[in-house]
Amino acid sequence: MTAHFAFDNSYARLPSSFYARIKPTPVSGPHLIKLNRNLATQLGLDPDELATPAGVEILAGRRVPDGAEPIATAYAGHQFGNFVPQLGDGRAILLGELIDRDGTRRDVQLKGAGRTPFSRGGDGRAALGPVLREYLVSEAMAALGIPTTRALAAVTTGDEVMRATPLPGAVLTRVASSHIRIGSFQFFAARRDVDAVRALADHAITRHYPEAAGAARPYLAFLEGVIARQARLIAQWLLVGFIHGVMNTDNMSIAGETIDYGPCAFMDAYDPATVFSSIDQFGRYAYANQPGIAQWNLTRLAECLLPLLADDQNEAIEQAQEALSAFAERFNDAYLGGLRRKLGLLSERENDLELAQDLLNRMAAGEADFTLTFRRLCDAAAGPEGDAAARSLFADPASYDAWAERWRLRLVEEPQEGSARRASMQRVNPAFIPRNHRVEAVIEAAVEKQDFAPFEELLTVLSKPYEDQAGFASYAEPPARDGRVYRTFCGT
Ligand code: AMP
Ligand code: MG
Repeated sequence: MTAHFAFDNSYARLPSSFYARIKPTPVSGPHLIKLNRNLATQLGLDPDELATPAGVEILAGRRVPDGAEPIATAYAGHQFGNFVPQLGDGRAILLGELIDRDGTRRDVQLKGAGRTPFSRGGDGRAALGPVLREYLVSEAMAALGIPTTRALAAVTTGDEVMRATPLPGAVLTRVASSHIRIGSFQFFAARRDVDAVRALADHAITRHYPEAAGAARPYLAFLEGVIARQARLIAQWLLVGFIHGVMNTDNMSIAGETIDYGPCAFMDAYDPATVFSSIDQFGRYAYANQPGIAQWNLTRLAECLLPLLADDQNEAIEQAQEALSAFAERFNDAYLGGLRRKLGLLSERENDLELAQDLLNRMAAGEADFTLTFRRLCDAAAGPEGDAAARSLFADPASYDAWAERWRLRLVEEPQEGSARRASMQRVNPAFIPRNHRVEAVIEAAVEKQDFAPFEELLTVLSKPYEDQAGFASYAEPPARDGRVYRTFCGT
């Protein structure tokens, strides 16, 4: 019995200019590394069937399951600010869509499944390292409660891929609310195909913003919806120290999920200028630039939608500008709200942002670890005996003391018991994030020694980021000075 997928493929019913029909290219020796059994069940799939050799053949692209209509989707995009009119799925193939147990439509896509008409010079393949990185980081994001694509499975292919050196090949089965990107709209807008832009917008509204369909101006409501979700998403990234690394318009999801994990990383010591990606030479996608870049990208989306907003171009531009101007407020609300929760503040006071910013400035000056500082503040919130552990993270511990004094004066205005405050703070300040040096070590063990035990262990730790896991305390620690990772690579 092979795995049964109850596909219902709405994207494949859109006009043929939206995609190319293409089957995965078979690989020689598929081997299952990891199956996300909970997610499989959520998708109505039988994890035991998926884990059989026949199931693994599907996950490796060697066998196309019944009901699949494999396609590579067309999209364009601004890459580091430069418009590329045709990108598209060059190494990802959408098998089809499933309706999950909650009634939500989800894409099932194989990343690294072989060449497509959009591959340009690429081989259509993925290397094991980036597949493991995406698996770990996307599942960590999900556990942190941040909207993201998910990882259903990772398999090795038995084939080598040529990068700087030959590397083991792998395929990631990725699950997303959809793979519609800002770049998907740009693809048609650049070709002045307004009918296609409208058809794509209608599809996205039905799928992701059904409330917009009933609005007085559905396409404006759609744009506002995308802006609202992105503003909230970027705030969530910042609140956990996440840096996407390649916020090109083709890597921004219309559904508002984090998508396309490449050289992404979490920062250790707090520094708003942090950049990890080796290809981001000028820091365009640095940590603190992410809100501004999101707004820039959303402006590109708005431009695509102009013909749908109003017949009169000036009127359309006015509507778009008003929608875009809401981004800052929505982002600031989500960011400040999150900072308040991180500091244990339930009420709102005018100086809260300044109080939080004061801490962040001191963290930056004192090279304090972002994640650990907030986690240790949870204990400090319960009583001053928690201060020692927090202050020790600062190069100049007295700098923490001065801030903590201010913070305590503010906490007096809060009605909570110390222990309750600690518990609520621990629910928003993770102990465990996918620290870069850990991710790199996992990849090295897998690639160099075919040892997947470190991957399994890290994945387990990251599945409960907000719980103190006594046996895994070392995973909460930042890297030693000489173990810091400063550069990450796409590895594509
Ligand atoms: P990414 O950097 O993964 O967001 O990819 C940017 C573009 O390059 C997309 O159109 C990808 O499909 C394409 N691409 C990346 N890696 C490969 C590859 N190995 N083979 C073919 N196309 C690729
Ligand atoms: Mg991409």
